[in-house]
Amino acid sequence: MPSCKDFLRELTDYLDSCLDPETKKELDKHVEECPTCWVILDTTKKTLKIYKGCAPKAVPAALEDKLMAAVQAKMAERKCGQ
Ligand SMILES: [Zn+2]
Repeated sequence: MPSCKDFLRELTDYLDSCLDPETKKELDKHVEECPTCWVILDTTKKTLKIYKGCAPKAVPAALEDKLMAAVQAKMAERKCGQ
């Protein structure tokens, strides 16, 4: 069972659909059960749509940092994964 950190690490690959099916299935399951990661996934998808055209492929590093900070803040709040 992947943790939130695992999910974030795989997030760009997950969105690029270049993960192996087994990993993708586990991450799908994590998103279904974890509201924090669901929000992050949703936000990232929307952001990528905005970026589409001017910055194809991969989440910009600055955004990745921002997301990581947001998740860590949330995890500290809710003690997610314990
Ligand atoms: Zn999570």
